[in-house]
Amino acid sequence: MPDKRDYYEVLGVSRTANDDELKKAYRKLAKQYHPDLNPGNKEAEAKFKEANEAYAVLSDAEKRKVYDQFGHAGLDGQGFGGAGGAGFDIDLEDLFGSFFGGFGGGTRKRGGPQRGANLKYRMNLDFMEAAFGVERQITINKEDHCDTCHGTGSRDGSAPEKCPTCQGTGQVSQRQQTMFGAVMTSRPCSACGGKGTIVKDPCPACNGRGRRQKSKSLHVKIPAGVNDGEMLTMRSEGEPGSQGGPYGDLYIEIHIRPHPVLQREGNNTYCEVPITFTQAALGADLDVPTIDGPYNYHIKEGTQPGDSFTIRGKGIPYLNRNNMRGDHMFRVTIEVPNHLTDAQKELLRQFEQTCTDKNYQKRGSFFSKIREMFK
Ligand SMILES: [Zn+2]
Ligand SMILES: [Zn+2]
Repeated sequence: MPDKRDYYEVLGVSRTANDDELKKAYRKLAKQYHPDLNPGNKEAEAKFKEANEAYAVLSDAEKRKVYDQFGHAGLDGQGFGGAGGAGFDIDLEDLFGSFFGGFGGGTRKRGGPQRGANLKYRMNLDFMEAAFGVERQITINKEDHCDTCHGTGSRDGSAPEKCPTCQGTGQVSQRQQTMFGAVMTSRPCSACGGKGTIVKDPCPACNGRGRRQKSKSLHVKIPAGVNDGEMLTMRSEGEPGSQGGPYGDLYIEIHIRPHPVLQREGNNTYCEVPITFTQAALGADLDVPTIDGPYNYHIKEGTQPGDSFTIRGKGIPYLNRNNMRGDHMFRVTIEVPNHLTDAQKELLRQFEQTCTDKNYQKRGSFFSKIREMFK
């Protein structure tokens, strides 16, 4: 290997690094590049092998001495090299115990109990259902333990037998002679697929798998105040774990259908209320739509288009907080009347003739500015 990197460089340690430092550096790299954590990543795999090789040499006092004196060539001469980093299938569990335990459980270890898969269910709610909460009966399809064999996979429901090939461990270990001495390698047992057990007379309902596709009906209580995109968790309603591992969870993802009139932002609701220009001019009692139904609200004389108003405590309830609610805000738009009769037009003309700048202050100041400009 002409371009082989320096072993110390590979591990990122100094040439005087002690065993602890070597181990720490290697452990870090192994965690980062382990193939189980980087499935299908060729670069990670190469880095992992490189680190394995570097550690295998430097952690061995004799090989390290040779390497320090002669470099890679020294090891080649001793018959250590030539493998190009392949075949360094060091048993990590043996080296580090259960350092994979820190990865959220489940990726390790082969044959051991694993938590079942989490499931997601998309639930569509009406605007009001989300605001006030609702109870729903839902049906989910999932893999679950087979009822016929009680999850054992065997026809008579008896417990599966220990796999004779791997003695129930689910793994077969092999002592392999490599250039660095004997190395233990372990692989999932092919006779039992890594389960450690074998079903002699399989259950006909599930073909010996011990699980099958099932529908389950669940009662779901949606609390008042859930928002679009939120997830509710139903503990242990996912798929069953393997080898006695716990069930995964079921996540209910909330989607809220839009309301024809009301909008929502967080716990506040919004709407627009069209009013007539007479209402705006004279003031009026409006029936403002809220999630509780129409709310009587008095707008004052001279209300302008786009004026907005807040009704406290008429918004969406806060999730899991009793009696706390957001606000409802509304904005008025003024609708100019259409299709007037001749009589209505005449009334408006009469009205217009009575108006002065005092009635239209904004307009009055606008035109006085214009007059200033052209003086
Ligand atoms: Zn079965
Ligand atoms: Zn086996």
